[in-house]
Amino acid sequence: MIYSHSRLSSFEQCPLKFKYRYIDLIKPKVQQSVEAFMGSMVHNTLEKLYKDVKFKKETSVEEMIEYYNKIWKENWSDSIRIVRKEYKEENFRKMGDQYLRDYYKRYYPFTDGKIIGIEKKIMISLDKEGKYQLQGFIDRLMSTGEGEYEIHDYKTNIEVPQVEYMKKDRQLALYSIAILEKYQDAKNVKLIWHFLSGNKEIVIEKTNEELEKLKTDIIELIDKVESEKEFKHKPSALCGWCEFKDICPEWKHLIKTEDLEPNKFLEDSGVDLVNKYVELTDNKKEILEKVDKEIELVKEAIIKFCERENVTSVNGSDYISRIWVKDVSKFPGKNDDNRPELNKIIKEGNLWAELSELDTFKLSRIYDTLPAEITKKLDGLRKMERIERIYLKQKK
Ligand code: SF4
Repeated sequence: MIYSHSRLSSFEQCPLKFKYRYIDLIKPKVQQSVEAFMGSMVHNTLEKLYKDVKFKKETSVEEMIEYYNKIWKENWSDSIRIVRKEYKEENFRKMGDQYLRDYYKRYYPFTDGKIIGIEKKIMISLDKEGKYQLQGFIDRLMSTGEGEYEIHDYKTNIEVPQVEYMKKDRQLALYSIAILEKYQDAKNVKLIWHFLSGNKEIVIEKTNEELEKLKTDIIELIDKVESEKEFKHKPSALCGWCEFKDICPEWKHLIKTEDLEPNKFLEDSGVDLVNKYVELTDNKKEILEKVDKEIELVKEAIIKFCERENVTSVNGSDYISRIWVKDVSKFPGKNDDNRPELNKIIKEGNLWAELSELDTFKLSRIYDTLPAEITKKLDGLRKMERIERIYLKQKK
């Protein structure tokens, strides 16, 4: 498989989505989201604008907007999904229109540097043997002087992220690896994001150490993808924009039944089972609460009986009840504000090893993040066990 930054990000976001899209090559029934559509129309318009600049063709702001509206109209389809239902197609078209006007005003006449490539395809080699390769497309590659390059990327996100967040972004940093390798004179590469919604630029430069570390991280990630067997789904807030929602195990039944007539809905065997499950768990809760209250009352009565009769054991048909009273020490619990102080005293008193216990539950949770030399040793003691739970979530 040819990898790319977006393929790897898709795997990290949800392995099942990655499998549907890149391994099973499933053609989604639903179209792209309106945000993605607006993004690609804005990108296409800027691509055209810079091509015109390259060919020394002057384009006015109105000509640029005319082109944007034309391609919007030609490519729009009613199957494009609008997840934020309170907004219409026109709202998104106008947003793109504003982004482009602001951009034009800020950068006209677009002559800062020489255009090296627009929508430029690049191959990134992460190792000397060429085993790990990535493919990418640079929105615009510029040269601004001897050995000076700039990678420009247009973003149509609704919000402008903070610089710290972009410092962790891998996409343009990966592209800079290719530029430093493929262009003999390249000495410095600036990564420039244009966040069009806020008319803001974020500019970052990476050190060689950071790029080397990135190569290692991406090689590890590719190894993880290649050795993946399960491709589990990973539901998140981004599911709303996923084109495979209708076949995903998390959403399939919800989508299949959401528009059914009330009687058809209740006839569905899944709906029937969940309703029964909810009814029984509610009943169980009620019964347990009632029994717990009764146990408390009887317990109080037995203690009073013992005090009145001055006894510590009371006879029953099959059991003898014996009361036990003792004042015990209680120390701050895990979430108590005084717990750190307690931990400190125990550690300073060299009692930690004697009083602390290994948390095997936590160990199983962090197992996948442990270094290989530890997991290899743990594997002989590890047994796999399937846990099946049902969670109930109240509908809004
Ligand atoms: S809907 Fe969510 S959980 Fe399902 S495949 Fe898509 S991203 Fe993954």
